[in-house]
Amino acid sequence: MPDTGALAERAHPEPPHPYRLPFERDRARIIHARAFRRLAGKTQVFTHRYSDHFRSRLTHTMEVAQIARTVARTLGLNDDLAESLALVHDIGHPPFGHAGERALDEALREFGLRFDHNLHALRIVEHFESRYAEFRGLNLTLGVREGIIKHSRDYSAVEHPELAEYFLDLRPPLEAQLIDLVDEIAYLTADLDDGFEAEILSLNETRAGVRLFEEFYAPMRIRYAGSVEKLVVNEALKRVLNALVDDLIAETGHRVERAGATTLEDIRHARERLAAFSPAMEELRMEAKRYLYVHLYNSPELAYDHDEAEQVITTLFRAWVSDPALLPASHAAQIDDTGAPRVVADYIAGMTDQYILNQYEAWISRKG
Ligand code: MG
Repeated sequence: MPDTGALAERAHPEPPHPYRLPFERDRARIIHARAFRRLAGKTQVFTHRYSDHFRSRLTHTMEVAQIARTVARTLGLNDDLAESLALVHDIGHPPFGHAGERALDEALREFGLRFDHNLHALRIVEHFESRYAEFRGLNLTLGVREGIIKHSRDYSAVEHPELAEYFLDLRPPLEAQLIDLVDEIAYLTADLDDGFEAEILSLNETRAGVRLFEEFYAPMRIRYAGSVEKLVVNEALKRVLNALVDDLIAETGHRVERAGATTLEDIRHARERLAAFSPAMEELRMEAKRYLYVHLYNSPELAYDHDEAEQVITTLFRAWVSDPALLPASHAAQIDDTGAPRVVADYIAGMTDQYILNQYEAWISRKG
């Protein structure tokens, strides 16, 4: 449906590839990026203290990508654009999941700055990735860069004049609108799965507290009465995921039709974002999400990891800001232009969990 013409433009014009389309090239550039490879070493919800088979930020990203492709293709959208956006959607996340992001944001606030993973992702693909002799960054298409900052929230044009080229007063294309919702589908089902496996979530409490789970678990319990619990849970979760995907596709299709949107311009000027769950599913999704916050994300079992994340990030941030000579030369060189707090935050945000833990140990032993 969308005319990809303007969306396929790059800041540094490049000749067309003989057989690869612009968003396919972006997908390849993202997969070959250093920041993408580091997602393998970054926490999604569980640190490696728990298990090596729980989701990392990389495997979460791959789950989002495959769901995004299905939804985009079924809705007749550009699945290469949707997949590229999914692959890049978490590339700006610091180590240690949301606890790490919170700690970095709080450290920056002392200097009147904020950490925002979408804006950081844009800096990575525009400045920090260095793969080309002729320009900095990955020279991604406008469609992917716009999607990076607009997939999960809207930024005000007044507060962010530097983002002027991204049509801040207009809605993003549907491919970008979908990403945040697909992300929710992926992590909601994955975190139930890993939460049971970690024995942090209780099956009975979850059945009582999450209607969306119980709706599919109860019939599977009867159908597979002789099966081990794990397989019954898997059968239920698979159906939860399908129900969310079905609902997202159907509701988005209805809203596009109701709005009479047939072009990208229509999508951009629509009164609200057109990608959405139905009101009934949205209520169930929110119930499940609230449940996960209470029983998993903010559970006492994960508090150790959150405290460690805060301790490590806050300590190193303060140490490096007060003595930038400790930074690698390439980072120290950016301080005159960018200021020490932002440079240190950029440095920390790029690290994997293990790398920053090693840095922390080295700092502690040097100090001791
Ligand atoms: Mg995500």
